[in-house]
Amino acid sequence: MTVLRFGGATDVGQVRTENQDAYHCSDLLWIVADGMGGHRGGEVASSVATETVVELVGADGPAAVAEAVEQANATVITRAFDDPGLAGMGTTLTAISLVSGEGPDGTDVLRLVNVGDSRTYRLRPSDGVIEQLTVDHSLVAQWEREGRITASQALTHPQRNVITRALGVDVVVEVDQWDLSPVTGDRYLLCSDGLTNEVDDTTITEVLRSMAEPSEAAAELVARANAAGGRDNITVVVLDVVDAAAVSGTGPRDLPAPVNPESVHTGDDPPPAGESPPAAPAVPRSRFTWRVAVFLAALVLLIAATAGAVGLWARNAWFLGVGPDGTEVVVFQGRPPDGVLWLEPVEVATTGVRVIDLTEVGRRALDEPVVWGSQLEAEQQALRLGEAAPPVVASTTTTRPTTTVPPTTVPTSAPGA
Ligand code: MG
Repeated sequence: MTVLRFGGATDVGQVRTENQDAYHCSDLLWIVADGMGGHRGGEVASSVATETVVELVGADGPAAVAEAVEQANATVITRAFDDPGLAGMGTTLTAISLVSGEGPDGTDVLRLVNVGDSRTYRLRPSDGVIEQLTVDHSLVAQWEREGRITASQALTHPQRNVITRALGVDVVVEVDQWDLSPVTGDRYLLCSDGLTNEVDDTTITEVLRSMAEPSEAAAELVARANAAGGRDNITVVVLDVVDAAAVSGTGPRDLPAPVNPESVHTGDDPPPAGESPPAAPAVPRSRFTWRVAVFLAALVLLIAATAGAVGLWARNAWFLGVGPDGTEVVVFQGRPPDGVLWLEPVEVATTGVRVIDLTEVGRRALDEPVVWGSQLEAEQQALRLGEAAPPVVASTTTTRPTTTVPPTTVPTSAPGA
């Protein structure tokens, strides 16, 4: 089986007061997640998503990493619904899992998945510079792919932190997936944007080339980002392919021991020899017990479904308003002006547009906010207002931003994605 070595590092940076990034390193799974959301939301989102993926990959195996990410999305949404203080939280996530024997002729595979704008790079010994493998799900990356801005404009664009896909935002999330063949000598880098917004590709390459030990390379990259300003949380995982086995001879490692089917028997099966049959219930069951149980279960489901529907309706809306300092136009998620029941609107993004720069029409648009079907639409409207362009009339239908652009390396679709 393929032999890997790895190391990770994270730091709060020089400006932020809390670290909303999370990462995970084990023999079969490596993750970086970058949370967002006010108060403690971002921290919870990235850690809940990471823990969910770790748990499910442990139970179902590394091949199912994309399905684990989809489930992590549902877990983050459920957690935010259960705790109004976490409403609006979300997280990016990029991960690699080592899948045994699913490559050509039974070779191993490194399965890469991604949602959001955290990145995975690869450095091959023969390459001059790191190669970005993941495709950013961000507004500026989309504009760059469409030719509306250049790569250098994207680096400094005020909207560069706006992401178009994340866990915890929509009930259905599309997970990009690639299967990569492990090659001895390859070095992989998973990182949050706190690294790539501070340190350029050349410097990252130089550090990855000069430091043999993955954990030291990870720590040095974090130090470089801090030295460059450290304006965001910084998280780095470095993964080296030490020996890419040609053919896997063993099954997956570090998974929980499978349950032996022979040790499990249902009520219809005869008990194994030497084991007594279960004793009869001491108290006869009421013949109505099952009806009561079914009724209660249906009632609980009905309440949960109603609450879920209300919650989805309340959260599936975005509008523009004035930020807490009274100077900037920000995007709120929720129903204006005060939300629905206990689900209050939550600020989810700043726009870089100053209230003082708005025309009379623009200011009126803040006083009488229009509900948008996605955060992206609200942000685009803010830009229009900032440019003093006539505001666009809101669509009455709820739409998701179309952000899927074929990457240069075509991802294989995640099963069920
Ligand atoms: Mg970040």
